[in-house]
Amino acid sequence: MSHEFAVCAYCLNHFFWKETDLPGVERANQDRRLRAGWTKQATDWVCPACEAAGVAIRACPQNQVWETFRWPALSFEDFAGVCGLCRQSFVFSAQEQQHFYEQAAIPLEVVPNNCSACRELVRLQKAAQARLSERLQNPSSAQDYEDIGEIYAGAQRFRKSVEALSRARNLHSDPLQKERLRQRLVQLEGLPDSRQPWPPESSSSNPHFYTQQRRRRADAVHEKRVQLGDRWVLPRPGDTQPRKGT
Ligand SMILES: [Zn+2]
Ligand SMILES: [Zn+2]
Repeated sequence: MSHEFAVCAYCLNHFFWKETDLPGVERANQDRRLRAGWTKQATDWVCPACEAAGVAIRACPQNQVWETFRWPALSFEDFAGVCGLCRQSFVFSAQEQQHFYEQAAIPLEVVPNNCSACRELVRLQKAAQARLSERLQNPSSAQDYEDIGEIYAGAQRFRKSVEALSRARNLHSDPLQKERLRQRLVQLEGLPDSRQPWPPESSSSNPHFYTQQRRRRADAVHEKRVQLGDRWVLPRPGDTQPRKGT
């Protein structure tokens, strides 16, 4: 069991692998949620040659959260998607996937819909949203209302922003502060509120990309199978003719 051969999903060549080549396989093999022999069924192997050529990178099943998939990912390949927010295409690189699914231990079925710039934007806006709801708990000082007003302004909610900043101005007794806020209000008054939801809602451009990616690889590997009696098996390296059934 320590020395098996597999078919690389990228070049479709056979290669031999040892359990030590794929950290975590041994432990995943002992996992009762997996059927015995899952490594033979898996269709996302990457051979050392393809890995060296940068086609895909080898995964480490031990670090993945894969319960909702049939088995852990054995390799990661760059994926091109379309961002659900800015509608630009983006690449979810193999390295990003490795970080996402192994270091950050995000379940394998979770797939980002957005490019990294939009993900960062959403993260910042959610943080602002959290800050805002905290401030809205019990606003009392001029500073509280000013903070609220600026958060609304950042979200392009100018009507609410003007409301809060006017309150802040009324609460101030210092004429310099009043004047500063008056000038700020002049900038904001009359600006049209953004119609975008806040924080923005993203729609997935392709919620099935992993399924498609996996199916494409699986089909390529399955194509290579030959019939042996009543079973379909992968030909062994060096086979010139289909193996005879026993
Ligand atoms: Zn290969
Ligand atoms: Zn985007």
